[in-house]
Order: sequence, then C-alpha cells, then structure tokens
Amino acid sequence: MDYLQGLNEKQKEGVLHTEGPLLILAGAGSGKTRVITHKIAYLIEEKRVFPSNILAITFTNKAAKEMKERVEGLLKGRVEDIWMGTFHSMCVRILRREIESIGYKRNFSIYDSLDQKTLVKECITEKNLNKETFQEKPIINIISSLKDDMIDPDDYINENYKDYYRRNVGEIYGLYEEKLKKNNALDFDDLILKTVFLLKSDERIREKYQSKFEYIFVDEYQDTNKSQYELIKYLSGKHGNICVVGDEDQSVYGWRGADIRNILNFERDFKGAEVIKLEQNYRSTGNILDVANSIIKNNTERKGKKLWTAKERGQYATLKINFDEKEEANFVTQKVIDLIEEGKYKYGDFVILYRTNAQSRSFEETFIRNNIPYKIVGGLKFYDRKEVKDLIAYLRLIQNPLDDISLRRIINVPKRGIGASTLGKIEKYTSQTGESIYGALLDLDKIQGLSGRARNVIKSFTAMINKFLAMKEIMGVRDFIEEVVYSTGYIKELEEENSVESQSRIENLKEFISVAVDFETNYEGGTLEDFLANVSLLSDVDKTDERKDVVTMMTVHGAKGLEFPVVFLVGMEEGLFPISRALDSIHDMEEERRLCYVAVTRAEELLYISYANLRTIYGNTTYSLPSRFLKEIPDDMLKICKNDQRKEKQEDEIEYEERTDIKNRFEKKVNLKEDIQIGSKVNHKMWGMGTVVQIKKVGEDKEIVVAFENKGLKKLLLSIAPIEFV
Ligand code: ATP
Ligand code: MG
Repeated sequence: MDYLQGLNEKQKEGVLHTEGPLLILAGAGSGKTRVITHKIAYLIEEKRVFPSNILAITFTNKAAKEMKERVEGLLKGRVEDIWMGTFHSMCVRILRREIESIGYKRNFSIYDSLDQKTLVKECITEKNLNKETFQEKPIINIISSLKDDMIDPDDYINENYKDYYRRNVGEIYGLYEEKLKKNNALDFDDLILKTVFLLKSDERIREKYQSKFEYIFVDEYQDTNKSQYELIKYLSGKHGNICVVGDEDQSVYGWRGADIRNILNFERDFKGAEVIKLEQNYRSTGNILDVANSIIKNNTERKGKKLWTAKERGQYATLKINFDEKEEANFVTQKVIDLIEEGKYKYGDFVILYRTNAQSRSFEETFIRNNIPYKIVGGLKFYDRKEVKDLIAYLRLIQNPLDDISLRRIINVPKRGIGASTLGKIEKYTSQTGESIYGALLDLDKIQGLSGRARNVIKSFTAMINKFLAMKEIMGVRDFIEEVVYSTGYIKELEEENSVESQSRIENLKEFISVAVDFETNYEGGTLEDFLANVSLLSDVDKTDERKDVVTMMTVHGAKGLEFPVVFLVGMEEGLFPISRALDSIHDMEEERRLCYVAVTRAEELLYISYANLRTIYGNTTYSLPSRFLKEIPDDMLKICKNDQRKEKQEDEIEYEERTDIKNRFEKKVNLKEDIQIGSKVNHKMWGMGTVVQIKKVGEDKEIVVAFENKGLKKLLLSIAPIEFV
C-alpha cells in the first residue's frame, strides 16, 4: 500500500477513515494537507473511486494547483476529472450548468464592487431616500454581511421594522436583489448563496450533485463562513463522506465572515463524526517551532495544543533591527545573495512575508538593482498595478501632453463621465486634423456632436491638467506628485468604494509618494523627467524577467498552507503588524497574532524577522515601535543580528541589551485614545515640542500635522507616532 508510506499512525488513520464525516484538527505543518492528497490518491487507486466523484476545496487557486500536482505525483496518472478549486470557482462551475433552474440565464455576469455601488446608488434614488443618511458604502457592507449570514431582505425588515434606517436598508437590499436579477447578474457573495439556494430548491439538481460527490474534502476549514458551511452540508447530504481539515490557531479571515464555530461544532453538526488530532510537525526545525508556540500561546480564544518536531534544533531565529525600511531591504537582499553564494539554497527557497501589499516595493527595488529574480504571489508587481500605472500615465501626460496613450488611459480615471463615445468623437476629429488628443481638448469648440455635459467635464479635466502643468514648474518632484495623487479625485473615488481591494489600491497610490521621497533623496534637484526615466527603468525590468527559480514575495494571508526553507518576516512593527486597526480590539488582536503564527510556521529551516525604527510608507515617515509579538518571544529564542550585515555574530557575542531596549520602548507606548485636538501640544521623540495644526481621519486612524518649534510642519500617523501629550 504505497499511499500509506510516509505517514505516521494518526495520518494513516485519517487516510483509511474513508466512510463518514471526519475532522482532522491539528497545528501548522502537521501534515493535514498531506493526508488529503494521500487520501485522494488512495481512494482512486485502491478503492477504485472515479476521480470525477471527488471534490476537494482549497482556499486559494494556488493551493488547488499545488494539491493537483501532488496528487498527480502520487498517481502518475490523470487527475483532471477531480473537482479541485476554491469555493467560488466550484460554485461558478455548478451555476454555469444549472442556474437556469432558479431563473437566471447561464451567461450571468459577476458584479464587482464598482458595479455594486452603481446598483445601490440607483436603489437609493428610486426610493427617494436622503443621500446623506443613506450612503452606498455602508449599505453595501451591511448587505454583504447579511448575505454571509444568509439573512434575506424580508427577515431583516421584519426584525428591524421599528428602526427607520435599518428598515430602509432592508428595502434597498430587496430592491438591489431585484435589480441584480433583472441584470442577470450575481455579486461575489451570491456565487455561494445561489448555489446553496439551487441545491435547496431543486431536488433533481441536489440529488445529482449529492450523488456525484461521493467524497468531499475541505482544506483550511477554519476559514469557512456560514454559507460555505451550508454548501458542504448539502453536498455531503447523501454519502456523508466529508473530510475537513483545519487549525483554529490559523483562522485569519474573521473580517470576511469566517466562523470559527464551524470547526468547533463539526462533531455536533455532522452525525457520527470522528476527530483525529495530529501533533507532530514535519515542517520546521525545533527552534522555529518554539518561536511559533511562544507567540500563539498568548491567545485566549483557543483550545490549546502543542506541536512537537523530531527535526533537529536547527539555527536560531534571527532578529534584525533596522534604521529604516531601506536598511531592511538591503539586509534581506544581502542575506539572499550570501545564502545563494554559500550554495545551499536556490532563489525558489526564499519567501518574503509582509502584512500589507504596499511593503513589497522597497524589496522589489533592491532586488531589481541586484538582479535577483522575484515574483509576487497573489498580487501584481508594484509597477504592474493598475493604480500605479494610472498614476504614471498622469505624470507622463503632464510631462508630455502629446502622449495620447497616457491620456486615453486616464481621461476617465477616476470616472468623470467621459465615456468611450465621447472619446470616439474626439479621436475622429484628431484623426482628420492630426492633432494630439490633448490639443483637441483645448480647442473643444471645433469638435462636432459633443453634448453640453461632455463639454463641461472635459473643460474641468483640461483645467486640472493645465494647473498641473503650471505647478510642475515650481514644485519639487515629491510635493508635486503628492499633489497629483490627491487632487485627481482618484483616492476619493476609491475611498467611496470602500472595499478591501480599493483600500489596498489607496495604499499603493500613497506608497507611490514614497517612491518620490526616495528619488529626492537620491537625486537632489532631479526633475519630473528624470523621475519618469528612473521609474521606467524599474518597471521595464519586470517584463524581461522570465526566470523560473525566483524569490517569492507575498502577504501573510496569501501564504497560508505554503512552506519555504527560508522565511523573511519583515515589517514587524506596531501599527503595521499588528495592523493599526487591530490595536483597540482584543478580538482583532488575536486574529493578528494567529496571522503571525501562520507566518512563522511557514519556515522550514531559517527564519529572519526584521523591523525598522523609521519607516516611510505611503509617503509619510514615522518612528515606529517594534511589534508586540516580538516581545512575546523569549530572549533566548531569538538571535540579534548586529548591524554589520556581512558577518553574523556568534551566539556568545549576542548583545542582550538591545532586547531590553526593545521592551522598554514598547512599554512606553503612548495612549492612542488620547483626546487629541487642534492646538494640543505634543512632545516628539526626535523633533521635540510642537502644536497640532491639522487632524484628518484615515480609516480608523488619524493623520495629524504638527508644527514643530524647530523642524517645521510634519505629518504623522497618530497610532504609531512616538509622541506624548503635554
Ligand atoms: P498547514 O497548517 O500549514 O497547512 P499542514 O498541516 O497542512 O500545514 P502539510 O503541508 O500537509 O501540513 O505538511 C507539512 C510538511 O510536512 C510537508 O512538507 C509534508 O510533505 C511534510 N510531512 C507531512 N507528514 C509527513 C510525514 N509523515 N513524514 C514526512 N513528511 C511529512
Ligand atoms: Mg495545509
């Protein structure tokens, strides 16, 4: 029996338990996913189950691809017929075949958040509701969480009929649903909901899929939400062979409605369920596992379990304290170069894990300069991101108003109401006159057939660009770019959209200001033209890089389930990881800690953790405190890497004073909830006394502008600025 080889007793038990519900509950790296792959192979080869009768649900498409490859490796045969993919991809597959039964056409559209916004806006107008009281974004959020919990409009209205706001939100929700239907469209949440509804309401279809899926697997079960739970409940309704694996310590999607109770109540919900626990970790060395355990044990919302490993102790995890994010990027780059030179590792063995996407930029730049190949998983390379390209197009147009390509890209970004047909008329005109588009826009009266409205919006567009053209001449590159970022209205549009994705786009736009800050430091007196030349060099390298063996960069969320010989966990600072919005809630903080546990447990052999004392992110430079999670790691588990990067200190040379310093700094953390006002006096660690002159809300945090007595105006993020109120 090949498929039982390379498994421990408990894992074998998991593979052989083919009939009935099974929960494998175990810590990171204990072989949960391995049990799934071996079990699939076992079912096909030994039990002669048809691949098409197996359904395996993973959390990301990348994970599905990897699982497929592993099963393929075990079977040496075709595995195409196995249904393997994410919840969403599986549901789309079912709906494309069956949705007619619930009154949609098969070619339904899938609406993204911008489409949703348009639709909700229509509903508010049609219901004649006050636009101030009823704003789209909070309503979309309510609808989405109601959908996660499977509450329909009527129920919501009935429950809230006395509450004016909620009752009307319920009505909007109802109308929104009607409109989706009329447009033959589903939003993202619907993909799962409608599949559940389909299975519930159409017995024939339910019977078909229940019979088809004799064996069902769900990886990362701790991250499923209510509708996903319902879905597998239906699908497994006939055969009952449902095998789920998960780890409550790795539940990191609470903010998206994932419900940890799904895992805790499995035994109750699936009759006759068996539970297997795995305790041996096969992934990480002893030292790495100790670090992971020492962090996660600080959580209260957990069952508590301890992992052990038979692997060697290995090297100590290393902490690198950096002056700023550039030093951090240089450290990682140099480490990669050194380890490659030593010959033990290849590029593909390394991963850089960070909390937010915008952090990739500083690493990308040092990698490009040192010719180290890399890829970004679950996101685009910084200069490939849509919003970054858009911004560059603005700058190119300002640098060169004859650049039609850049103009076409941004004339309607953010949406201004200059649509394809307007642009078509203009281009028809320029194709006759040979003028540039921008030139024609300045001479609007000559163009036929434009509506008065179109003329007006075009005029305000050219007025804006003309203003930029004038400002460019008198402003420094950094200030100028900041002006462009904020005054195009792009950020405002994204703020209104208020989705996770739009949030990350905003972060990237702001991060672009950091590019300009860097540029000004490195090229004193450089012009916009120099800046753009510099940027095109960086963005061009991307295209030519086709090497396979590359360093991976990704967010911690994206890394769930994966493993790498060498992990760099970077940006370990209060306000960044844990992220600032979690600082005020114990519940959110525990989710951040689980995320940190996920990060550490990705490492097989080497773990480098780093933070920067001074960080320029989103164009702002702030002093930061080391992450509280670092404080939770006992001193003797973490080796400090001294500033001399080329030569790491031997263990007996470690200077423990530095660690004491981290703790002291941490304890001095300022109270964030301080009632700050314009006029408040503050004392800044580096810049001394100052007065608050401006306060702006950014998310749950605040950005303040302080006039320092000797240093002038500085912008600071309240949650992480090293200031005290006096
Ligand atoms: P995570 O919680 O991070 O998703 P997991 O529990 O799914 O982890 P796997 O990815 O399945 O763990 O396994 C971790 C590593 O240990 C893999 O490289 C896997 O091949 C290896 N492994 C698992 N079980 C064994 C075993 N019995 N013998 C040798 N190696 C094993
Ligand atoms: Mg796994």
